[in-house]
Amino acid sequence: MRSAGLDTMTERSFVQARPPAPQHWWAHVRAGRIKEEGPRMKRNLNCPCGETIVGTDEDDLVTKTKAHLAANHPGHDYSREEILFIAY
Ligand SMILES: [Zn+2]
Repeated sequence: MRSAGLDTMTERSFVQARPPAPQHWWAHVRAGRIKEEGPRMKRNLNCPCGETIVGTDEDDLVTKTKAHLAANHPGHDYSREEILFIAY
């Protein structure tokens, strides 16, 4: 009974019937919740000395990392971009 042509047609119309993203997802983006809780936000950094630095957000992580560098690694002053590059 199975026809490859029919299966492809059924699958295609099913994909077309689905919207790219549900409406409520965009509402969350507008509310800024995705930005705050999304997986892209880096809040942790493992310093080569073994210290783990955890921030509440990227700005906080950069501030804490710079404070840690100033206190424990004089001369190692990294930029925000460099800190976020090794953060996760
Ligand atoms: Zn360190």
